[in-house]
Amino acid sequence: MNSVPSPARIPFLDLHAQYLTIRDDIHRAIEGVFEESRFVLGPAVARFEESFAAYCGVKHAVGVTNGTNALILLFTAAGIGPGDEVIVPANTFVATAEAVCRAGATPVFVDCDADTGLIDPSAVAAALTEKTKAVVPVHLYGQMAPMREVAAVAEPRGIAVFEDACQAHGARQDGKRAGSVGKAAAFSFYPGKNLGAAGEAGAVVTNDEELAARLRLLRNHGMPRKYVHDLVGFNARMHGIQGAVLSVKLPHLDAWNARRRAIAARYDAAFAHLPDIRPMRVVPGNEHVYHLYVIRSTRRDALAAHLAAAGIETGIHYPYPIHLQKAYADSGKGQGSLPRAEALAGDILSLPIYPELPDTHVDEVVAAIRDFATH
Ligand SMILES: *Cc1c(COP(=O)(O)O)cnc(C)c1O
Repeated sequence: MNSVPSPARIPFLDLHAQYLTIRDDIHRAIEGVFEESRFVLGPAVARFEESFAAYCGVKHAVGVTNGTNALILLFTAAGIGPGDEVIVPANTFVATAEAVCRAGATPVFVDCDADTGLIDPSAVAAALTEKTKAVVPVHLYGQMAPMREVAAVAEPRGIAVFEDACQAHGARQDGKRAGSVGKAAAFSFYPGKNLGAAGEAGAVVTNDEELAARLRLLRNHGMPRKYVHDLVGFNARMHGIQGAVLSVKLPHLDAWNARRRAIAARYDAAFAHLPDIRPMRVVPGNEHVYHLYVIRSTRRDALAAHLAAAGIETGIHYPYPIHLQKAYADSGKGQGSLPRAEALAGDILSLPIYPELPDTHVDEVVAAIRDFATH
């Protein structure tokens, strides 16, 4: 008999738990969009753009359909296209590299720091060529990439630094929010992100007036006004319902991130003395928002199986570095070329973390890991 796997007792993520905490506000917000009946862009999106820009500490936010399109539009708006190279980490969600290709340019994969998983600035320096137009540090798992070090490599050569902030809503580095440090930044509001929509949504944030204006044109068929087309654009407009839902959620983001940090601290304390359970390092000066809580173990697959047997769901972010994927086989980087990213893929494990996860569940995860690590 084929059995349907029963849902995990302790799920990796529980979006319904969050919905229950803001249910009435969400229903009112969605009703408001129907009352206005402005379903694409419109006032609900404009209101969210204004508050999200202010939250990030930048002048402009441009609401789009998802984080991948935010990156594609950003590269296109910056004039990046065929013949240009864009440096990206090999250990990220595929969209960072995919967007470079969709803009017509070539992704150049580089290695990461072994203890943080963040892009290695010296690898960026080594990858620069005459064709390099931009570097895209990814704020992986919720802590910001080494922006000062990357800027020191890129800026003297006039190379733009764009943040992939899709995992780092609200994170800070030396007091500055993710999204406010590079020339511009892409955010995703995919439901499972720290700030998640009720479907697909994304945004580009920037202080650059001209870039923002070009992004507003590009997301809407290159149209400054009806049926006048100044650019070959896209249809990538944020939906009104997503703007309204995100406006309800944004005021909660800091408290939700604080709860994620409290859960991470509980995990950190428990793992400090366990053999072969090594949490990813947090860089001083970084305020981490723990989109993911990631540990390393040389027995990762056995550990994941042990947790699954105990009803605890885990994930791997990400199991295959992009330069080894079939779709990116022409990157010229084979097995062994980016050894730290390749090693990480083999021993990382993401544990349950979300604001509504109760301490009792955290303690159960800890107990199951302690049981595994000490036997
Ligand atoms: C989620 C994510 C994206 C893509 O966002 P979508 O909204 O799913 O298109 C891009 N980069 C990173 C690092 C992400 O985690």
